[in-house]
Amino acid sequence: MSLIQLLQSSPTLFAATVALLSLTIGSFLNVVIHRMPKMMERQWRAEVAEANGQTVPDEPSYNLMLPRSQCPACGHAITAMENIPVISYLVLRGKCAGCSAPISPRYPLVELFTAGVSGVVAWHFGFGWTTAAALLFVWAMIALAFIDLDTFFLPDDITLPLLWAGLLVNMGGVFVDLQTAVIGAVAGYLSLWLVYWGFKLATGKEGMGYGDFKLLAAIGAWLGWKMLPVVIMLSSLVGAIIGISLIALARHERSRPIPFGPYLVLAGLIAMFWGDAIVQYYLRQL
Ligand SMILES: [Zn+2]
Repeated sequence: MSLIQLLQSSPTLFAATVALLSLTIGSFLNVVIHRMPKMMERQWRAEVAEANGQTVPDEPSYNLMLPRSQCPACGHAITAMENIPVISYLVLRGKCAGCSAPISPRYPLVELFTAGVSGVVAWHFGFGWTTAAALLFVWAMIALAFIDLDTFFLPDDITLPLLWAGLLVNMGGVFVDLQTAVIGAVAGYLSLWLVYWGFKLATGKEGMGYGDFKLLAAIGAWLGWKMLPVVIMLSSLVGAIIGISLIALARHERSRPIPFGPYLVLAGLIAMFWGDAIVQYYLRQL
């Protein structure tokens, strides 16, 4: 029996394999989450300097590959052995091998979360192209959620390709038919755009950003317009629960904005797995 036949015949083995391999993807997502906002800031600064007729300073290259990962405290270059997902964190007991500065537990948590969600994708969709496509969707969504948490910003460099990818994937009708996907993208953008302007006109405040519209457009492109009410409902619900508990616990000032992206991501993931069941449930109540 070949390896492919083995993975095809055992859903558990397939899900476990995907989860294990996805630890590495989680490790890469940590790099994306950490570096992409900095890359965009550098690019933005360079553009401003150029527009003002200043010479752009020659800085060493900074991208997803370069420079190699190092400890922010002491500059100790992280070796391959110190870069094994989760394991290295446990072996190093959460401390830098060079200076013993604590390493944020968020790194292994992002790796474990990525592995967990990827395993569920593999289990849910089984061996085939649907799983491959769904994995791309969830990985991009995880990166977006954490970048938004850190910076209150959802980069176009991820939301827009995710939107195109959703339409492309659904040209083959992988999740929904193309028409449902196109309407999903347009309706996703417009619905939050309307909420944004309604909220702004009513209160004079901005409740969310344009990145959120693009993210919901991308979710609509992947899951279709029928999932949008579910996604909006779930994200508002989860957002309200977390927001109210943070304020109640005095962990968050009422005036400080709370990013909406992570809730959209969470709702989008739930909708991908159980959206159909949720829609069916509500239709039966009518
Ligand atoms: Zn160090």
